[in-house]
Amino acid sequence: MDKVVFLDRDGTLNEEVHYLHKPEDLKILPGVPRALRMLREAGFRLVVITNQAGVARGYYTCQDVEKLHRYMNELLEKENAGIDGFYYCPHHPDYGIGIYKKACRCRKPGIGMFEAAEKDFSVDKAHSYMIGDKRLDIEAGRNYGVFSILVGTGYGAELMTETTEKGEKPFYDFYAETLVDAAEYILAAERSGGRE
Ligand SMILES: [Mg+2]
Ligand SMILES: [Zn+2]
Repeated sequence: MDKVVFLDRDGTLNEEVHYLHKPEDLKILPGVPRALRMLREAGFRLVVITNQAGVARGYYTCQDVEKLHRYMNELLEKENAGIDGFYYCPHHPDYGIGIYKKACRCRKPGIGMFEAAEKDFSVDKAHSYMIGDKRLDIEAGRNYGVFSILVGTGYGAELMTETTEKGEKPFYDFYAETLVDAAEYILAAERSGGRE
């Protein structure tokens, strides 16, 4: 079985750029290669799960998304922090052109991308995690049935503060300021025999 860390892309691995699709606009966030390396060394497979409705909206193509992912992985592999699988949802339920305008199963908080990953990985859900900076990342992870960590990069810190200020029960299982903090939490949880 594979222990998998599912990762949102924008705001989690790289700087949030509106409808990012050009390699020259890609900026990996500080500490991210180190966090990914820590997880890899502990035996986790790393899987990116990303909504890319910019395809549906006609802002860029599937080829652009795939090219960006190859470039991203070139950068990360140089730091021994490569991603094992990239899955993206090109759809949008309300906006879009042709085949991409549809209410799909893959768009987070749906779980279709996790299910697609199951064709390539045998996911051990009890030792797998989702990390993202938005509510829909956490909802997707929880819908799929893995422990879900909100990370403070991207929109995460703002969301955490909002939740705390309203006195709401956290919608996430754990909050980590950075991806390195999330990785440290995961490694500690696994060392102590799992999070249950
Ligand atoms: Mg994000
Ligand atoms: Zn989709």
